[in-house]
Amino acid sequence: MSDDTLSSRIGLIRARMEQACMLAGRPSERVKLVAVSKFHPAAAVEEALKAGQNIFGENRVQEAKEKFPALREHWPDLRLHLIGSLQTNKALEACRLADVIESVDRPGLVDALSRAADRLGRLPDLFVQVNTGDEPQKSGVPRYEADDFIIRCKERFGGSLKGVMCIPPEDQDPTAHFAFLARLAHEHELIDCSMGMSADFETAIMQGATLVRVGTAIFGNRSKA
Ligand SMILES: *Cc1c(COP(=O)(O)O)cnc(C)c1O
Repeated sequence: MSDDTLSSRIGLIRARMEQACMLAGRPSERVKLVAVSKFHPAAAVEEALKAGQNIFGENRVQEAKEKFPALREHWPDLRLHLIGSLQTNKALEACRLADVIESVDRPGLVDALSRAADRLGRLPDLFVQVNTGDEPQKSGVPRYEADDFIIRCKERFGGSLKGVMCIPPEDQDPTAHFAFLARLAHEHELIDCSMGMSADFETAIMQGATLVRVGTAIFGNRSKA
């Protein structure tokens, strides 16, 4: 039995991911762990880096900006994914900070990201977020618009459009949502499919996730204070 340290929790998640890959008959290199560090301090991120974790997810541009540029100086392999709903007026800062923006979900944001990329001469990899449950309060492009929106993003961003992402409704079995997203990625020849969180990442891997976003199971509960 290992003690309950951040490093042992990451080890446990990785072991469960491998087990799920094995059950799914998928090579384990095809599924990456995004450690979601929102509301946790830079010191916790550093501890995870020391445990060999190098991909992190943050919801808010401001918080990412406070934590990550300093960490990058010491950890050049660090990769930051922005996974939260993104305001248009934060697009420039998001393009500066992120390696991947997982939450592209509306034409206004597409325009803002294009302008930011022109200005900075750099564009992160982009994923389209799909609101697979068509929940009114949730960000993401509605299911019925997903095909058209992905095609438009491809025209605009070419190979920088790499994947799709979803957050299924909390009160439903996520399996059908994950299957829908995986099919969408496949149909549009996008390599990445970001789905699955602490409670359901194994199900997501069974359905074809290439990235799972795990927060609580690694860093513990988030105090929002
Ligand atoms: C917070 C968050 C996660 C991580 O959720 P946990 O249940 O803590 O693993 C994953 N994806 C997104 C988009 C999030 O906002």
